[in-house]
Amino acid sequence: MRLLIVEDNDELATALSRILRADGHVVDIATDGSDADAALATEFFDLVVLDLGLPLMDGLDVLRRLRARSSDTIVLVLTARADLADRVKGLDLGADDYIAKPFEVEELEARIRALLRRRAGARGSAVRLGSLVFDVAARKVQIGDQQVELPKRELDLLEALLLRTGRVAPKTELSEAISSIDDAISEGALELYISRLRKKVEPAGLRIRTLRGLGYMLEAA
Ligand code: CA
Repeated sequence: MRLLIVEDNDELATALSRILRADGHVVDIATDGSDADAALATEFFDLVVLDLGLPLMDGLDVLRRLRARSSDTIVLVLTARADLADRVKGLDLGADDYIAKPFEVEELEARIRALLRRRAGARGSAVRLGSLVFDVAARKVQIGDQQVELPKRELDLLEALLLRTGRVAPKTELSEAISSIDDAISEGALELYISRLRKKVEPAGLRIRTLRGLGYMLEAA
């Protein structure tokens, strides 16, 4: 999944991004509110970890502006323990969950997994389509009873398509869902990953349809 960490404490932001990348996510960092607002306005993110006390623009304003664009990006708010009022305000403004500072990283990882599973409509920790089973937490793919190893980009792409099952996934949205700002991929590269993935999910009874000018759609054949 593609995550944005909004945190003005550089050390914390870097540590979190390292851990969440190791969990298999694509991660970008914004260290002030105005940067975060710009990134959220122009790029697709599945989830944002949002600190509230930020330079240039307050976290609650970032959240308010995000929801005003009717974005359905999942928002996990970081708050200082004492700020009950902020926590309530955050939830009222459409945050999906919050975690109080100081927190254990394991708890943050678990909350993120839970939010992403909920988004994926997963039962337990797995998303199923055709005979393919995608374990959201472990990021493992099985077709029938066979484990399938996919390169990272293809795995990210499969996850992004599964989250959009039955609807058209525009090319730009898919590209953004699997690459960070520093690591953007071209349309040609996306097409290449799609064609590789298409062959690999065929045995599961799945097809990736190309809708010319619109994007791709994953469905049970
Ligand atoms: Ca802060």
